[in-house]
Parts: sequence; C-alpha cells; structure tokens
Amino acid sequence: MRSAREGREPLVVVAARGSRLLDARGREYLDGNASWWSSTLGHGHPRLVEALRRQSERLCHVALAGIAHEQAAELAEELCRVAPAGLEHVFYSDDGSTAVEVALKLALQYWAQNGRPGRTRFLALEGAFHGETLGASALGGVELFRRPFEAVLPAAIHVPPPRDAASAPRAFEVLAERVAEHADALAALVLEPVVQGAAGMQLYDPAYLRAARELCDRHDLFLIFDEVFSGYGRTGPRWAAEHAGVAPDLLCTAKGFTGGMLPMAATLASERVFQGFLGESARAFHYGHTFCGNPLGAAVAREVLRVFEDEEVLERARPKAERIARAFEGLAALDGVERVRSLGMIGALDLAGPSGYLADAGWRVYEQALERGAYLRPLGNVVYVTPSLNIPDADLDALLEILRESLLAARAG
Ligand code: PMP
Repeated sequence: MRSAREGREPLVVVAARGSRLLDARGREYLDGNASWWSSTLGHGHPRLVEALRRQSERLCHVALAGIAHEQAAELAEELCRVAPAGLEHVFYSDDGSTAVEVALKLALQYWAQNGRPGRTRFLALEGAFHGETLGASALGGVELFRRPFEAVLPAAIHVPPPRDAASAPRAFEVLAERVAEHADALAALVLEPVVQGAAGMQLYDPAYLRAARELCDRHDLFLIFDEVFSGYGRTGPRWAAEHAGVAPDLLCTAKGFTGGMLPMAATLASERVFQGFLGESARAFHYGHTFCGNPLGAAVAREVLRVFEDEEVLERARPKAERIARAFEGLAALDGVERVRSLGMIGALDLAGPSGYLADAGWRVYEQALERGAYLRPLGNVVYVTPSLNIPDADLDALLEILRESLLAARAG
C-alpha cells in the first residue's frame, strides 16, 4: 500500500491474451510469471474460454453434497488417469491453500479414527510455502509469514532442505532423525517436490523424494506432495513427482489445474486413505466447501487436460525449457548475479547482497523490466521467470532479453 499512498500509479491490467498483459494506458507487458504460476496455457486460451462459455449456459453451480454432476465426476476420473500411480480418489476445493488444508485434515482424521490418535503433527521443510490458511501457514517455513500467527498455529516441525549436492546427505540424515524421534506424533511429511517455489525457486535432487518415500513407508507415515506450483508440467514432466518415480499418499493440485482461469483445486488420495473414512457416518470427512467441484471450474479443468494432450504442451515446452536454461547460464556471467538455476519452465537467479523475501534488489530489476515491457515480480533478491508453458518462442526470447537488459540497467542505476 505504501507506494499507492505515495501516489504512485499501480499497473492496472485491463486485458490479457497469451503471454501478454495489457494495461489501462494501452501498454503491453510479457507476463514473466504466468500470473503467479497459474496461467500455464496462456491467458484467454480460446478452448478454455469456450469450455467456460458452454458450461455457463448449462450449469454454473450446484452443491456437490450427496448429489453429483457430470463435470466433477468425469474430471475426477480423467485426473486420476494421469495422476501418479495409486492416487485414485479426488476431493475438490478452491485454491492451493485449501487443497493443502484438505490434505492435512484428511491425514489428521485418518489417524484419529484408525488407531493412532496421537499423530497430530506435520513435518515440512524450512523455506516451504504451502498456502495462507492457518493449517497451511503452520507448514510454512518462511518465518516472516508465520510470525504474526505463531501462537495459534498447529504444531509443525521444520527440517533443513537439501539445497545442493553437498548439503543433501546431511539434510536427509536430519529428516530421518526427526522422523525416528517423532514417528508416533507425526501425521505426515509434506513436501513441495523438487522445487521450493516461494522460497526463491530453490531446486533440489529428486533422490531426496525417493529417500523420503522409503522413510515414510518404514514408519507408516503419510507423504503429501504439494504440486500446486510444480504440477501441470512446470518442472518438465506433468508432475514433479515423476522426476523421482515415486507417488505420494496425498497430492495437492491448483493453479495450472484450471489453467489459472478459475479458483478451483483438488486433493488426490490413495485407496488406503479413502478406506480410512468408510463405516459409520461419523467417520466421514465432514468438510464441505460451498464451491466444491464447481461445474465451471471442472469443465475448464477437463479442457485443460485435453489441451495438454491435443497441443502436446509438455513435449513442445521442452525446447522452450532449453532456451530458458541457456539464457540463465548466460546470465551467470553478469556482474551482481550470484547463482543461476533452471528446471523445466523455471529459470531463476540470485542477486548479490541481502537475501530473503524483504530484500529489495529484485524490485529494482522489476522496475526496469516494467519500463521495457515485462512483468517480472521477484522473490526478494531472487529474479525468475515462470512463463506459460506454451509461450511463443519470440515472446520467450523477448522476455529473456528484457530480463538481461533489466539486470544490466538495475546494476548501472
Ligand atoms: N502451495 C504452493 C507450493 C504454492 O506455491 C502456493 C501459492 N503460491 C500455494 C500452495 C497456495 O496456493 P493458493 O495461493 O492458490 O492458495
């Protein structure tokens, strides 16, 4: 609010198409982060718009409470067909935070009514981001975001993430120690597979996920993958879990789930989790979101799955990902750039100087990029691109060039 109160004009977006945003002054900006990582197929994809229009003429909403409708039912089946092995059931909610909240509640209630009521805590990584609700905030490993609510947050244990090859073995040892120490009190281990997004696009070795899966199996603990950011091809394969060849017990998806068009999310669960809620009605999962399985969102989410197949989105993103990787390798040589990394349709770099979410170095690059026609919202001192997976090559090259120029200009200024 400070800049608004100081009288600075915000960027007022009036329209968006493909990878471009249009502001109220008629200027265009390349959307460098696909509107917070959600618009995986670009803005206003004609097939998604058409699916929404068609569905809106038929059925906009009905409560998914003891009744059913075609879109939610078909979507669940289609989603499970492309999900990691063993995820056979779907619970719908509204966004990434609630998809995570659902996973947490499912895990807690499962243990409460299946003989392990003491299992009430969660394990997560330092730097993790899993959403804004209180449960999801408790998992959050960014102290700044957690601090105001600390007194009321559910108990979570945080362990250091496997930042690089050197720290990975120790990070896994610490994880194994904490699990062994607290196994009787733990409901689940929650991970953003392969990339911690809000932590600053921090990548880690998929081997950690395999080791985590084995550890959870050994201690009969649920493994939850938060694929809200990493799913739908952001890291290359459809799910980041595929890098490791492992499947979680619960998987959360949102953002790209509806191509960023409507707020709708899903939590996928294994047969074992599902079975844990059968029996007397008190054992049911009494969690009813008003817009659970919203037909508009479901129709769009189904069309997203079809577009991924018909337009070979994952295959066609591969050479684009290589373009990002090459461009970021090139940026490593720039003065003031400390560490570059890329994976799939993610490219990120650290700027020298103070780090963390409140660091302002990235915002200087942001200002320069806006002037040059790109929206490149940073994460503190981390500048990154996460464009739509189908961004035209010319737009991608333009975005990467604006990034390079903006880095140079911010440095000079
Ligand atoms: N999990 C992850 C990994 C995320 O990156 C985010 C949002 N950035 C969320 C959960 C929360 O999603 P939402 O903002 O849709 O509630």
